[in-house]
Amino acid sequence: MSTDRQKVIKGRFAPSPSGRMHLGNVFTAVLSWLSVKSRGGEWLLRIEDLDPARSKRSFSELIEDDLHWLGLDWDEGGLEGKGECGPYCQSERSELYERALDRLTAQGLTYPCYCTRGELMATNAPHLSDGRVVYAGTCRPERLDKGCVEGKNVRATRLRVAEEEIRFCDGIFGETVVDLSSEVGDFVVRRGDGAWAYQLAVVVDDAMMGVTEVMRGCDLLQSAAQQIYLYRLLGYEAPRFVHVPLLCNEAGQRLSKRDGSLNMEALRKDMTAEEILGRIGFLAGLTECGKKVKLTDLLELYNENRLPKKEQIIV
Ligand code: GLU
Repeated sequence: MSTDRQKVIKGRFAPSPSGRMHLGNVFTAVLSWLSVKSRGGEWLLRIEDLDPARSKRSFSELIEDDLHWLGLDWDEGGLEGKGECGPYCQSERSELYERALDRLTAQGLTYPCYCTRGELMATNAPHLSDGRVVYAGTCRPERLDKGCVEGKNVRATRLRVAEEEIRFCDGIFGETVVDLSSEVGDFVVRRGDGAWAYQLAVVVDDAMMGVTEVMRGCDLLQSAAQQIYLYRLLGYEAPRFVHVPLLCNEAGQRLSKRDGSLNMEALRKDMTAEEILGRIGFLAGLTECGKKVKLTDLLELYNENRLPKKEQIIV
């Protein structure tokens, strides 16, 4: 039997349904759609509703409505669950995450962590710009004095990282190197309350859904290293990563779902889909001016080499 069957190019958009999308979310969605569609690939929509406190079905419905309105149709996934790799909502995929975690545990790579947030923040370990700290490995079984944690709650399950540099070539940022132990530390794969960590879920999902290209905001560039590490431990082939600039307001803060004027509700009142696509095409370096453009025209113009090689674009 032939094993060298040409792999389908498959990209995905994986929003968290915790609010209405803003221009930054849509920027990423449009570029990832263009990237795979310009090469005859498929595009998948996965709902990342891991956090039950913040995720709402009504937001997932609005996300789908906004994508349709822009003309971005998905070949697989969504609330309807079209396709063979479902379910496509992370809240329904616990069993798969559980199996992956069991495989990591069987390799002796996970351990319970008892550190509270306060304890984590109080360590001398490097604090990262996103508010996390590089975990010092305090609860690694070989270091832990069992007596000290008796009666304490398990706060998380962590994955032991190797003393190793992960190298990968990002489609925009090029050669990227992340030293796992000094820049990341042992990271959380499951929270103490049972909620699955994004890093584990995203790898299980992208791998099992056959995703070959992950295009998303560059705030997740470092996460790609954690994910590549997990791909290897779970025996999966890592996809190609492309991290696009984040859209920011004039104060240099990335747009948030609270940035009222640039969320899809407000934008749809003032602009047509072609006008929004025009603005996105211009911000992405695909068009010379921000005038309205059709999605099919953007498809012709799409060229990854023209995307801005920067972390932020002020809008
Ligand atoms: N769910 C994440 C978000 O909305 C995206 C994660 C990813 O694309 O890997 O920010």
